[in-house]
Formats: sequence, structure tokens, C-alpha cells
Amino acid sequence: MNNNYYSIRMHASRLNRHVSGAERIVSGEKIDKTVSELVSRGMGKGCTPDRVSITIDDLGNVRPRALKALDVITINAPDSFKGMAIASLILKRAGVADLAANQAVNFLKKGAAPSTGNMRGAMIMDCKTGKRLEPDPERGIRASRFDWREEASSRIKKMLADNGLSHFRTYEALALATKIAHGPGVKAELCWSDDPDYTAGYVASLTTGYVRFPVLKEKGDNKGGRAIFVDPAVLNLDLLIHYLQNEAILISGIGTCTTASAADC
Ligand code: AMP
Repeated sequence: MNNNYYSIRMHASRLNRHVSGAERIVSGEKIDKTVSELVSRGMGKGCTPDRVSITIDDLGNVRPRALKALDVITINAPDSFKGMAIASLILKRAGVADLAANQAVNFLKKGAAPSTGNMRGAMIMDCKTGKRLEPDPERGIRASRFDWREEASSRIKKMLADNGLSHFRTYEALALATKIAHGPGVKAELCWSDDPDYTAGYVASLTTGYVRFPVLKEKGDNKGGRAIFVDPAVLNLDLLIHYLQNEAILISGIGTCTTASAADC
């Protein structure tokens, strides 16, 4: 076995509709174990898939880039209206104009794809005007090839659990948000899930950290998605898309985990 790293992706679907997905970056000797874990995960969802596909890509002799996870700050806003108001404020602090933030919120609320469905990937938006820049607005851009290094994974899981954040979505979203925040030309990201039972969302950037809101939408709402705000003055769109889709990232360090009151924001 060589010293290469491998990207392993799982996608589970039923009747050609997405059920679940997950991905890892591992060294060669961990491929078998990781594939087995991902297959179990794909099969273990409430809605039994009729297809689970696994893709393994050899990343060659390029070492994954090591990043430190963003700091996690939870803001316990009392409801989604207050949460959204504070999220807009944090976006502004990260350099996103009100116009762009409002456009993103409107798109995510109604379904950001032109068909008004949820997208598979993220919108890429000009941070000043809110203009959408992703080449395929129906699909968006999906960030891939990111994972936690084993030691960092154990440490972040413990830290998140100690702070009442043991949901696997927080662990995975923090890794994704850390990769996105380090993208060339990226100012900030806004996200909330399309899962109707999961109301949490976040704003993330290198300057603000991963700012999490337990309630950013109403329970039962099945619309959600991600907006990546970029600075048009420095953006090279092709470079950013290549980074998001192809550059392998292993998160090797963790930050802090704190709580702030809505009144402090
Ligand atoms: P989730 O947090 O998994 O519920 O995803 C919410 C939304 O974020 C999805 O509907 C997609 O629009 C978007 N999304 C999910 N995963 C990714 C990804 N890896 N890269 C970019 N956007 C994503």
C-alpha cells in the first residue's frame, strides 16, 4: 500500500431521489473499514434506499491541506425572527451588504433553485449585490473532499458534546463551513438545513467563526440551503469552484466553543 490519501463518498437514493450522503478522506489501510461504515450509514436511514453508491478516488501524492476548525459560537436567540436579524448583523460584520444578505434569505426561504426546489449544492453570491454567480443555479456548487483528522475528530466530538451539541449535523457542518470559509475570495456563508425537523442554522466566516443559531427557521419547513458570499474585487470563480470541489482538506486542529446571549449582539 502506498502513502496516498483517498476520498470516499457515499450517496444513497430511492427512486432516483437523494436520501443521504457522506464523505471521508482516509489513508489506504482505512478504506475497507470506512466503506463499511458509510454503507451502514447509507442503509440505516428511515427511508430505505434502493441504491447506495460508493466512490473512491485516489488523491495521488498530494497531501491534504491541514486547517484549524472555526471557533463555534452559539447564539440562543429566542425565535427564528430574532435569529435571522442577528444572523444578518453578523453577515454585515463579515462584509456582506444588507442587499446581498436579504437576497440570500429570500432565495433560501422559497427554494433557491429556479424550480423553487432545494439545491444539491450552494449558491455563490456577490457579497455586495447578491448577484448569483454559480454556473448552474438549479444544482449549485457542492463542496467536497473534507474530513477531520482522527485526533481532531475525537477532540471536536467531545467539545461539542460537552456543550450540548452532539448532533452529527453540527460536527459535519463545522467541517464543511471551515473548508468554505478558507475558499479564495470567500467572505462568509449562510446556511440552514432543508430537513423539516432540524431548525438550526449558521453564519460562518474567518472573521466571525461558526456562529450557530438553534432556531433559524420554523419546524416543519422543508426549505433550506447554503449561500457562499464572495468578494467580487478578488474573486477568481474557476479557482474557487476548483478549491471547493477538488482540494482535499483535513481539519487537524480545533478552536473554542462558547455561547453568547442574543442581547450581546
Ligand atoms: P444539509 O445541511 O445537509 O441539510 O444541507 C442543506 C443544504 O445545503 C442542501 O439542500 C444543499 O443546498 C446545501 N449543501 C449540502 N451539502 C453541501 C455541500 N457539500 N456543498 C455545498 N452545499 C451543500
